[in-house]
Amino acid sequence: MAGNQNVNASEEQARELVEQSRQADWEGKGFLKNLFLGDFRMDWIDPFPNKGVSAEYLEFEKKLEDFLKNKVDSVKIDATGEYGDDVIDGFRKLGAFGMKISKEYGGLGFTNVEYCRALELVGRYDGNVTALLSAHQSIGIPSPLKYFGTDDQKKKYLTRCAAGAVSAFALTEPDVGSDPARLGTQVTKDENGDYIITGEKLWCSNGTIAELFVVMARDPNTNKISAFIVESDPNNGVEIAYRCRFMGLRALQNGVIKFHGTKVPKENIIGKEGAGLKIALTTLNTGRLSIPAACVGASKMMVEECRKWSADRVQWGQAIGKHEVITHKLIDMAAMTYGMESLSYLATELSEVKGYDIRLEASAAKEWCTTRGWTIIDEAMQIKGGRGYETEASLKGRGEHAVGIERAMRDSRINRIFEGSSEIMHLMMARECVDKHLQVAGAMLDKKATIGKILAALPSIAAFYIPWYAGLWIRGLFTPFRYGQYGRLAGHVRFVETRARKLAREVFHGMAIYQAKMERKQAFMFRAVDIAMELTVMAASVARANGALKAGAAEGKAAVDLADVFCKNGRRYVDTKFAEFWDNDDDAKYAAGKALLDGKFTFLEPKDVTGAANSSAAAAK
Ligand SMILES: Cc1cc2nc3c(=O)[nH]c(=O)nc-3n(C[C@H](O)[C@H](O)[C@H](O)COP(=O)(O)OP(=O)(O)OC[C@H]3O[C@@H](n4cnc5c(N)ncnc54)[C@H](O)[C@@H]3O)c2cc1C
Repeated sequence: MAGNQNVNASEEQARELVEQSRQADWEGKGFLKNLFLGDFRMDWIDPFPNKGVSAEYLEFEKKLEDFLKNKVDSVKIDATGEYGDDVIDGFRKLGAFGMKISKEYGGLGFTNVEYCRALELVGRYDGNVTALLSAHQSIGIPSPLKYFGTDDQKKKYLTRCAAGAVSAFALTEPDVGSDPARLGTQVTKDENGDYIITGEKLWCSNGTIAELFVVMARDPNTNKISAFIVESDPNNGVEIAYRCRFMGLRALQNGVIKFHGTKVPKENIIGKEGAGLKIALTTLNTGRLSIPAACVGASKMMVEECRKWSADRVQWGQAIGKHEVITHKLIDMAAMTYGMESLSYLATELSEVKGYDIRLEASAAKEWCTTRGWTIIDEAMQIKGGRGYETEASLKGRGEHAVGIERAMRDSRINRIFEGSSEIMHLMMARECVDKHLQVAGAMLDKKATIGKILAALPSIAAFYIPWYAGLWIRGLFTPFRYGQYGRLAGHVRFVETRARKLAREVFHGMAIYQAKMERKQAFMFRAVDIAMELTVMAASVARANGALKAGAAEGKAAVDLADVFCKNGRRYVDTKFAEFWDNDDDAKYAAGKALLDGKFTFLEPKDVTGAANSSAAAAK
C-alpha cells in the first residue's frame, strides 16, 4: 500500500523542522542580508558582475533558438497537451538535458549564468518546455547530485541524465505542500541496510515520463527526512498513478506517483540520513534561479510585442501608445523588465562568484520576477485588448499576427506557486531579515526564556545595539556627499542608502514592540521584505545601467533612462510601504478574517431559494 503516514505536526514543530534544515552559516557576503541590517554595500554589486558566456555556449544558444523557432510548435504542444517525442528527442540531441552537468559526465558543462541565459531564451518561447528542462535540471537529479552526490552516483546517474534520461523531484504530497513537517512517505530499512519506500507523491513535474526521481521520505522511527535516487521501475513498486492537468503548462508531464514498498539500494541515499530537506533547500538556493530567468525572457517578448502594437494600432485619432495611460503602461513595463533582468542577472552572476552567499538574492529574484512578470503579462493583455485574450490559433485563422499572450498568462501563473510560493519566499527572507536580532537578542524574543536568562543576555544585547542603532542615524550625515559617480542616478542610490538604514530601524522597532509575537506578524515582516527587494532591484538597476554608460555601451544612455524610471516608481512604492508599517489595518483585518473563518459572513455565499448553501463546492460534497 502506498498510503502516506502523515505526521500531525504543530505550527511549532513545522517551524523547528525548517529551522533545522536551514543553512545556519553564511558562506560569504550577502547583499540583501546586510541591507536588512542597514548596511548598504553598493561596492559589493558595483562593478556589476558580468562573467560573460563562452563561445561554446553562444554556439549552443544559436542552435537552441533555431530549434525553438523551427521545430517546437508551442501552439500544438499547448493544444494537444503533449510535447511530442520529436521535441523531447530534439532537446536530447542538443544536449539540453545536460546543460548544467559537467563535461566529465557527458554534459555541456555550462555555468549557472549560461544555463539561466538558455532558460531565458526558452522562457521567451514556451512555458511547457521551460518547465520540462527546469524541473529536470534545477530540482531533478542533476542539481542535488552536483552538490551532494558521491563520485559513483555522479558517474552512474549524471551520465544518464546528460544523455537525456528525464528526472523529477518528488517532495509534495496530498497533505504536504508548503509544510514539509507533515511528510508522510515512509522509508524503512531491510536486513541488508537497503531502503524501502512507501508513499504517494503529488504534482511531480516530469514524473510521468521520468526515468529517475529524487524522492523525499521520512524514517518513522527517527522522524528524519532523507533524499533518495529512485528508478522509475514498475517492477519495483513504482506506479505512475495519475496524470494531472492544469490551467496552463498543459503538456507538463506531471502526476501522482505511488511507491509500493519500492526497494532502493543503500548507496542511493543522497548525502546523509536526515539531510534530505537541507539538501532540497540548498539545491534550490541556485536551482530556483531558472524561473526568474524564464520570466525575464517572457517579459522581454511582451515589451516588444506591446511596443510594436501600440505604435501601429490607431484608436481615437492616434496610435494607442500615445494615449497617456498606455504610454505610462509601456514605459513601466520596460522599466520593470530592466529591473527584473538586473535582479535575475545579479543573483545568477553572483552565484558564480566565490565569497558570496546568494540565497536571499535567489529568493528575491524568484519572488520579485515571478510577481512582476505576472503584472507585465497582465498589462500586455490589457494593451493588446481583445487580441490579447484571443488564442494564437484563432488569431492565425483570421489572418492576424498570432502571439500567445493568453498562453503565456496561463503558463506563467504557476510561477508564483511552485518552487516556493510567494508567501513562502517572503517567510524565508523574513527569517533571514531577523537573523541577527535572533542571534543577539534571542533571549528577549523567546517566549520560553526565563527572567534570569533575559537578564544575563542584557549586557551583550546592549553592546551590539547601542553602537549599531546610533550608527544607523549617524551614517546618514554623510549620505548627501556620497555617490556622485552615479550622475543622474545618484539621488536614487542615496535613497536606497537612507531607506536601508530606515528599514533596519523599523524592523528593530517592530521587534522591540512585538517581541515573541513577531513571528506571527506576517504583514509587518512581508512589508520589510517587499522594501528590501525593491531597494535591491533599484541598486542593481543603477549599478548595471551606470556601468553600461561608463563602459560606453551602445545602450548605456537608454539603460540609464530605464533605471531612472524604475527607481522613480520604486521610491514611491517603498515610501508607501514604510507608511504602512505603522498606519495599517493589520489587526482589524486579522480579527475580521478570523470571524470570516468562523462563518460570520456566510450570508454572502450562494444560497438556493430555501436559504440552504448552494455553491459548487457544496454541490460537490
Ligand atoms: C504545476 C505544478 C507543478 C509542480 N511541480 C512539483 C514538483 O516537480 N515536485 C514537487 O515536489 N512539487 C511540485 N509541485 C508542488 C508545488 O511546489 C506546491 O504546489 C507548492 O509547494 C505549494 O503547495 P500547495 O499547493 O499544497 O499549497 P499549500 O501549502 O496548501 O498553501 C496554500 C496557500 O497557503 C499559503 N501558505 C502556506 N503556508 C503559509 C504560511 N505559513 N504563511 C502564509 N501563507 C502560507 C501558500 O503560499 C499558498 O498560497 C507542483 C505544483 C504544481 C501545481
